[in-house]
Amino acid sequence: MPSASYNLDVPVTNLKYIGESRSKALMNAGIRTIRDLLFFFPTKYINRSKMLTVAAAYEYVKKGYTDEITLVVRVIEKVTKYVRGKEILIVAFGDDTGGCEGVWFQGSKFIKDRFNEGDLFAISGKPALSQFMHLQIHHPDNDKISDDENTVKLFNTGGIIPFYKISDSFKTSMISVYGLRRIINNALNYWIGAVEETLPDFVIKKAGIMPLKDAIRHIHFPPGEKELEAARYRFKFEELFYFEILNAVRKAKIRFEHKGIQFSIKTSLVKDFLSVLPFQLTESQLKVLSDIKKDMLSAQPMNRLVQGDVGSGKTIVAVISALIAIDNGYQAVLMAPTEILANQHCKNISLLFDLYNEKHPAGRKLTVEMISGSQTKKQREKTVERITGGGTDIIVGTHALFEDTTAFANAGLIIIDEQHRFGVAQRARLLSKGITPDCLVMSATPIPRTMSMTYYGDLDISVIDKLPPGRIPPKTALRGEQALPSVYEFIYDRVKEGDQAFIVFPLVDESEKLDLQAAITAYEDLKDSWFRDIRTGLLHGKMKWKEKEEVMLKFARHEFDVLISTTVIEVGIDIPNSTIMVIRDAHRFGLSQLHQLRGRIGRGKKESYCILITKDELAASSERIKDVTYLPDYIREKLRTQTRLKAMVQFHDGFKIAEMDWKIRGPGDIFSTRQSGYPDFKYTDLREDIAILEKAKNIAFEIIDADRFLRHPDNYIISRNFFHHYSENLKYFNIA
Ligand code: ADP
Ligand code: MG
Repeated sequence: MPSASYNLDVPVTNLKYIGESRSKALMNAGIRTIRDLLFFFPTKYINRSKMLTVAAAYEYVKKGYTDEITLVVRVIEKVTKYVRGKEILIVAFGDDTGGCEGVWFQGSKFIKDRFNEGDLFAISGKPALSQFMHLQIHHPDNDKISDDENTVKLFNTGGIIPFYKISDSFKTSMISVYGLRRIINNALNYWIGAVEETLPDFVIKKAGIMPLKDAIRHIHFPPGEKELEAARYRFKFEELFYFEILNAVRKAKIRFEHKGIQFSIKTSLVKDFLSVLPFQLTESQLKVLSDIKKDMLSAQPMNRLVQGDVGSGKTIVAVISALIAIDNGYQAVLMAPTEILANQHCKNISLLFDLYNEKHPAGRKLTVEMISGSQTKKQREKTVERITGGGTDIIVGTHALFEDTTAFANAGLIIIDEQHRFGVAQRARLLSKGITPDCLVMSATPIPRTMSMTYYGDLDISVIDKLPPGRIPPKTALRGEQALPSVYEFIYDRVKEGDQAFIVFPLVDESEKLDLQAAITAYEDLKDSWFRDIRTGLLHGKMKWKEKEEVMLKFARHEFDVLISTTVIEVGIDIPNSTIMVIRDAHRFGLSQLHQLRGRIGRGKKESYCILITKDELAASSERIKDVTYLPDYIREKLRTQTRLKAMVQFHDGFKIAEMDWKIRGPGDIFSTRQSGYPDFKYTDLREDIAILEKAKNIAFEIIDADRFLRHPDNYIISRNFFHHYSENLKYFNIA
C-alpha cells in the first residue's frame, strides 16, 4: 500500500478498470485525479443492512418486530381506493418468495405515476400486517433500481449502499453506479494510505472527530449508520472550522491593526438624556446598550451588529451610543440607505435633542445635522464646513454621501442603519481607509442565529428581541384574487375614516416589464373605478430616485390616501397613519420580505391590517401533508408556498418568521449567496448544523487568539490547508 509520500494528484488512469473512454467520462464530471475520485462523495445511501425477502419479512413482522426493513421487489399492480372521499393508493409488490403492499394514505395522486408494472424498487420502512394479514409498508421510502444493478450482487447488498450522481456520459462509457462503486472501492484499497490529514491531531482529538482517512473510507462504504454519521460530521466540521479560522483571522486583524478609541463616561450627559425620554427603555434595549457600552469603553474598536425587528427601537439605542462619543468630545455619524430614511432619522433625533436642550438650558446644546443629496453644492459645502468645525454632534446622511467627504474627521462612532443593503465589502472598505472609529451596525432584517453567526462572522452581535410594550400587531389574512373587490371596498371604507393604505406588487427584477405593467395597470384601473373619489399615488422602481422620494414624502404627508407601488417601499419608512397593507402575488415574495413590508404598518395606535393576495388555489387551504419527500417537485413547491404564507398569518415575530423561511427555502432568499459574501458550504446545512458550527467556532477562535499568524508548529497543518484550500473563498471576504 502506498504511503503518504505518494501523490494523490495523479490521473485516474493509474487505476485498474480505467482506460481512455472511462477517464474521459470521469473528466466530464470533474474527476481528473485520484484525489478527485476519492472526494467524489455519494449523494445518497440506501440502508440495506436489513434487507429481507418478502417471506422473511413476513416472519419478521409476525414475531412482532417493527424496525425498518428494505425489500427489493417488483411492481405487480396498483390500485386506488376512496375512503371517505380521500384517495388511497395501494401498490402491490412482489419477489420470488411472496407479495406485499405499499400504501399511501396521502398525496396518492402525486405519486401513483411513479410505479409502473414490472419496475424494480427498493422500498423501505416499518413493516406491518393489515387486517387481512397482508404485509404492508405505509409511505415507504422508494428507490427505483435498474435490473443490471440488482443482478450484480457485489456492493449492492447487505449494508449501506452508496448512490452517486451518474451523468449521461458515464452511462455511455459503461460506468454504472455499480461500476463506479467498484472503481472507488479499488481506489480506496490502493490509495487511501496516501491521503494526508488536513487537520492537526489536537483538533481532531478536541473536536472528537474521525480522522480523514477513515472519514473518506466510511463516506463511501459505511459499515453502519453510526460511522456514516461520524464521517459526515468530520467533513462538516472541517469546512466550518476553516471558515471560522477565516473569521477569527479577520477579527484579530481588525482588533490588532486598528487601534480604537477608549471612551469613558465623562459627565452626566447620558443619564440626563435618559431622564428626559418620554418612555422607559425596554430590558432588551438596556441589555444591548450595556454590550455597546462595554465595547466603547474598551481600547479596541467596536464592531457590533444590533439586530432588532422593525419598530423594536434601534434608533434610540443608536442615539444613546452616540452620546457616549459626544460626551468624549467626538462626533457621531449615522448612515442610512436612503435619503428619506436619513431625513427621518435626522428629524427624530432632533426632536429628542430638543427635549434635552429645553430641560438643560445651561448645559451644552446637542445638535444634529444632515448632509443631503438635494442640497446644492454650495449648501453642502457650508454644512460640511460647520460639521468639520466641530459644531455638530450627530451627522446624518446616506451611505453614498460619506464616500467622498472628509466629514469623518472627528467621528468617534459610525452607525450604519439597515446593514444588509450596505454589504460586507463596503464595510471592509470603510475600515481599510484607516479610520478606526467604533462601528455600530443596525439591521432590521431578523435572521436566524446560525445565519448571522456566519454572515456576520466577524461582528459581535446583540439582539433587541422584544418590542416596546403596547404595540398591536397587524391582523393578517390570506385571500385569493377573487376577494379583491371586497378588499378594495374595505380600503375605501377605511380611507373615508382617514386611514391610508399600501397596495404592493412584486418586482423581482427591475427589468421585469410585466411586473411593472401590473402595478401601472392596477393604478390606472383603480383610480378610475374603485378609488374614483379617493387620492391614489403610484411608485415604481423605474422612477428616478428623486421622483420616488417625492411620492413617498407626499404619502407621508397624507397628500394622498392609497399608494400603489412595486417593492421600493421596503426600507424602514415611518408612516403611522397607514393601517392597511395589501400585498399582491404574495407567493412571489420571501417571508422576510413580506415581514419587512408588513412592518410598514401597525406603527401607530390604530388597529392595522395586512392582506396577502395570492392565486385562489394557493389561498384555499389544502389537506395537510406531513411527509412530502415522495411528492414531485412542483407539488412540493406549492405546498411549501402555502406553508410560508400561512406562517405570515400565524406569526408576528420576525425572528420566528426568518427561521421558518430559512427552514423552508434556504438562505438564498434572504441573501443571494455569492455576491453578498454569504458562504456557500459544500457539506454543511446550516439549518441543521448549528452545534457543529459552534464547536468549530470555539476551537478556531481559541487557536487564533493564541497564535494569530499560525506560526506555531502545531498549527502548521492549519496554515497550509487554510491558504491552500480556501484561497477561493478568501476572495469573498476581503481579508487582505
Ligand atoms: P426601529 O428599530 O424599527 O428603527 P425605531 O427606533 O424607529 O424602531 O422605534 C420605533 C418607535 O418606537 C419610535 O417611535 C420610538 O420612539 C419608539 N420607542 C423606542 N423605544 C421605546 C420604548 N422603550 N418604549 C416605548 N416606545 C419606544
Ligand atoms: Mg430604524
